[in-house]
Amino acid sequence: MDSQEKVYIERLDYLEKSGALDRLAELRKESRELDNLLNDAVGLFALQEIDEMLAFVTSRLNDRFIPTRLAFLIELPDGSGIDAHCYRNMKPDEEAFPLSSYKALKAFFSDLPYTISRASLEERLAPEKLDEGILSYEPDWFIPMTGMGGLIGLVILGKKMVGEEYSPLERMYADRLIRFLAICIQNRLHRERSITDLKTGLYNNAFFMRRLNEELARMARGGSPSAIIMLDVDHFKHFNDTWGHLAGDEVLIGIARVLKKTVRSEDIPSRFGGEEFCILLTDCGEDLVMDVAERIRLAIAGMKVSYKGEELAVTVSIGGCPLDPSWHGEASGYIERADSALYRSKALGRNRCTVYRFGLLGRASARRELPSGDEATEAR
Ligand code: GH3
Ligand code: MG
Ligand code: MG
Repeated sequence: MDSQEKVYIERLDYLEKSGALDRLAELRKESRELDNLLNDAVGLFALQEIDEMLAFVTSRLNDRFIPTRLAFLIELPDGSGIDAHCYRNMKPDEEAFPLSSYKALKAFFSDLPYTISRASLEERLAPEKLDEGILSYEPDWFIPMTGMGGLIGLVILGKKMVGEEYSPLERMYADRLIRFLAICIQNRLHRERSITDLKTGLYNNAFFMRRLNEELARMARGGSPSAIIMLDVDHFKHFNDTWGHLAGDEVLIGIARVLKKTVRSEDIPSRFGGEEFCILLTDCGEDLVMDVAERIRLAIAGMKVSYKGEELAVTVSIGGCPLDPSWHGEASGYIERADSALYRSKALGRNRCTVYRFGLLGRASARRELPSGDEATEAR
């Protein structure tokens, strides 16, 4: 061994004894895990639905460790409660998380939005704040989910099923991935909010118009025909005057529920405004429009809304309009035509459907004069 080699071996020996080599190996592991984390964040950001995001994060955590309990507590956007997604021994667990338990933790994590162990939390929090609702989750770590405006939820990590404590690297990964998750969830909720009518939970008018324009463009490229229908509650002013506006709101919410159930998931049921609704029926030929409209009319006429011990009912009038690509009209033109068919249903006595027809091709069971030789079919 020459003198140079001897120096190297001495240095290596020194590095080994000082722990620097171990530290280097740790840093390598950490850097690999950070690389994994970035890849996982990219995967997470590509997901659209919150359930998919939670499943993704759960599977990534389970690749590293299996917690006995895992709970994702996500605040509902209107602050009325918690959407709890819980897992026990990796299996989904149908469990409601008490809002009061969450509120005690929220106050703490709003001031200190950092991952913290149960032991540290117990030191800092008044004992009564960690109530049974929380302790029943056998928490080991609490990971806050922070969005742009503050806390949006919390992840509770139970003890590891096998092995001892969570390693610093495991905690680092979980903490960072859940930070990304919080941003993804908040983006998703913002998007949902921006296209939703708050009172009914249906799509709002802006989103309906956007989808209608997209549908017209799709049909212009030769896609299958679609249609729109408009609904208006009959004598709703009188209903409100009789039962009150809160009862009226229950009716609007009930109608929204019926619409969601009656149309297909690709269709776009929306609140046009007030007591008027608009639905985009994708892939729905002219002949089917009346059938769908009638199905909706009958479902609403048969709906009973319970309000203060009363069973209330309403009817709706409906106007439909097929989207006719040969007409080359704008979205607003179709709305006007559906509206004119709706007006016709009202004029004929309400609780009925009328479908606007382009040209003279339709089998009209009832006619009315419309511009440029168009006609309407009507049903009750
Ligand atoms: P028609 O059969 O001709 O449609 O009669 P109508 O009474 O339904 O029509 P009108 O346009 O005179 O009245 C609409 C009513 O809808 C008046 C308004 O108070 C009520 N309305 C609109 N938006 C809401 C809402 O969000 N909640 C409640 N409860 N009522 C609403
Ligand atoms: Mg109206
Ligand atoms: Mg009305």
